[in-house]
Amino acid sequence: MYFSFIYFLKKIYFLFGLLFLLSCSPSEIVAQSALKEVYFPKNVSTTSRTINFQNKQMFKLSDIGVYASNEFQGARLNAFEKLNDSTITVSIEPENVPINNSAYYSFLIWAKEKKDIYLKFEYPSEYKHRYIPKIKTVDGGWQQLNKKNIVKNGNGAIVKLNIDRTPILISAQELATSKDTEKWINGLIAGKEDYARILSAGKSKFNRNIPVLDIYKGSKEKKPIVVLMTRQHPPEVTGFFAYQYFLETILSESELSNTFLENYRVLAFPIINPDGVDLGNWRHNGGGIDLNRDWSIYNQPETRNVATFITNSKNKSDGEIMLGLDFHSTYKDVFYTNKTRSKTTMPNFVGDWFSALEQNIPNYIVNEKSSDSRTPNTKGWFLYGHDAVGITYEIGDSTPKDKIELVGTVSANEMMRILTEYIK
Ligand SMILES: [Zn+2]
Repeated sequence: MYFSFIYFLKKIYFLFGLLFLLSCSPSEIVAQSALKEVYFPKNVSTTSRTINFQNKQMFKLSDIGVYASNEFQGARLNAFEKLNDSTITVSIEPENVPINNSAYYSFLIWAKEKKDIYLKFEYPSEYKHRYIPKIKTVDGGWQQLNKKNIVKNGNGAIVKLNIDRTPILISAQELATSKDTEKWINGLIAGKEDYARILSAGKSKFNRNIPVLDIYKGSKEKKPIVVLMTRQHPPEVTGFFAYQYFLETILSESELSNTFLENYRVLAFPIINPDGVDLGNWRHNGGGIDLNRDWSIYNQPETRNVATFITNSKNKSDGEIMLGLDFHSTYKDVFYTNKTRSKTTMPNFVGDWFSALEQNIPNYIVNEKSSDSRTPNTKGWFLYGHDAVGITYEIGDSTPKDKIELVGTVSANEMMRILTEYIK
């Protein structure tokens, strides 16, 4: 009786095990077994939290003949109300709270006839106006609004604008949606498909694609790996611009880039948080979480999928992760580095790279802030999870484009030069 009961239990376990295996696709089984949790000194809860969605609509102030819309990807406008004949209250709210003060907004505005209006930007009291408006007309490019048209008003701002029948976009930063990003990478690798492949790292919470470029020449076997990431934080578009110049330089087919790609493999993630970007979020993903605090136990699908993709790629080609650069924006240009260097894959890289930047960019002084990551961000994930060099590459909110181009291009060239020299 006793033995047959054990036999029965074993049979049940076997059946459950079989069912479990059958319910997973082969790639999921590999993914789940390969991905390791990474220890950080201080953990932050990254269990999903509710986010508030905007009511997508056209706002009509018919009596003063002014209209606005948030009916496009990347928009953020929560309310649009007449205060008096020339002033409109523009209410902007984050997706949830608490949240970092990245008070992002983006909407279309137009009028029945040409007129000057005042937009009174209002935010919840704990947050304040941060971004200088960028304007895009239908036929023109983006332009930053002249600062003389912006007046601080408590935690908000009053912005003077001249509008007419043709809608203009007014946006905290230039709009760069998931669609724009996919279009950019498709153009970027056109004619280079033999060594630059667009793959998918999986889906976001709301089922958007997380693209990845897998770039190398010849065989990928045992090639050391460089990981490039960006857009964990949706409004950080200036960091994305630097990322674009950086990646374009790697794919420039110069003698240096060709040699580099014969010896190294680049995994480039151009949009890690596509839901956040398209929802016009201030910082979080569709799960209401700051993804750059989720690199320990990967509660969110975006971090889990990207970490799994990197781990599987590395394991399959027997390559080592050498360097991870994660592009962001903040108030000023700054490189956040880890203090721990000696036990990493490239103990001298940070020093070598920063002196090369100062030598090759006129009048440029690197602004470095160094400390080992405490909370689960990518910089710490590269260090603690891979003994690799991890750097958060931050561009200022208002750093001019020509400077971003210069720093983005030179930093890519110098990275390729230094890494190529290391293996000589
Ligand atoms: Zn950021």
